[in-house]
Amino acid sequence: MQATQLGFIGLGIMGQPMVMNLLKAGFPVTVYNRTTSKTEAAVAAGAARAYSPREVAEKSEIIITMVTDSPDVVDVIAGSEGVLQGLRPGAVVIDMSTISPSVTRRLALEIEKQGGDMLDAPVSGGDTGAKAGTLAIMAGGKAEVFERCLPVFRALGKSMTLVGGHGMGQTVKLCNQILVSVNNLAVCEAVQFARRAGVDANIMIEAVKNGAAGSWQLNNLGPRMVASDFAPGFMIDLQQKDLALALEAAREMKLPSPALALVAQLFNGCQAHGEGREGTQALIKSLQRLGNMH
Ligand code: NAP
Repeated sequence: MQATQLGFIGLGIMGQPMVMNLLKAGFPVTVYNRTTSKTEAAVAAGAARAYSPREVAEKSEIIITMVTDSPDVVDVIAGSEGVLQGLRPGAVVIDMSTISPSVTRRLALEIEKQGGDMLDAPVSGGDTGAKAGTLAIMAGGKAEVFERCLPVFRALGKSMTLVGGHGMGQTVKLCNQILVSVNNLAVCEAVQFARRAGVDANIMIEAVKNGAAGSWQLNNLGPRMVASDFAPGFMIDLQQKDLALALEAAREMKLPSPALALVAQLFNGCQAHGEGREGTQALIKSLQRLGNMH
């Protein structure tokens, strides 16, 4: 049986290693990136280069998009040189970027009108997960389309879950971001509390991390806060994009999300101090300024 022809649009920090894993799994892949130079490594590894999203769609049965935000996904799918201009009948578009659930649902309708299908399949696991092929993939769309795309997901991730219909993958990704960011604030507060009271914050972390308060954020970000290591694993600017999407979705649903709003406001303060490109653990700097602790 001939391997499924794949297309991939957006070879950034996440997209580049994902393409490499698809090639390693034996898929033929046609790639497009707005900045052409970023396709060189993939082409050297065997990918075919296209010069527009339309051209990718003309050559592919399954097209993956991995770009920045909602307007960018709209651009590469529904723009004048977009995927919809070249979509083959029965083709599937999988958007793996983190974007708005409502924009996703609109795009899914447009793609279905043109005889294709869409899955939203955002990921968590960062660039390390993208490189290792261990991403967590949360998908929204039709079950039969998800089944058809499983071989592709298996080349990219270690867990893949169909969580509901169109937009629900994005919704679950935003739940992930609420959990991560509110927990981040709890870690900042506990570290500040320990310091002000005169306890060594590293000892506090050691003492509580195997109990009910243990978490990924505490284990990974806590020690970096204490060491004033603000190098990015995940940048504040990108986190703010995701929190804005979550707050917008909460507003659309008329759902109060007070803790989420508070974290986004404190991150605004970090951005105002030029810390947008630092890691999310730099949230603690907002609390240090409020508490007059430097
Ligand atoms: P990135 O390195 O900034 O890459 C973004 C890619 O999108 C680049 O290839 C860029 O092209 C392309 N792009 C942006 N706007 C475009 C447009 N209007 N038209 C055409 N191409 C466009 O970002 P990333 O870290 O790979 O993130 C990609 C997505 O994954 C985002 O939605 C992000 O939230 C999500 N995500 C990221 C992480 C992470 O740890 N980085 C983790 C989970 C999820 P150029 O090269 O020309 O700029």
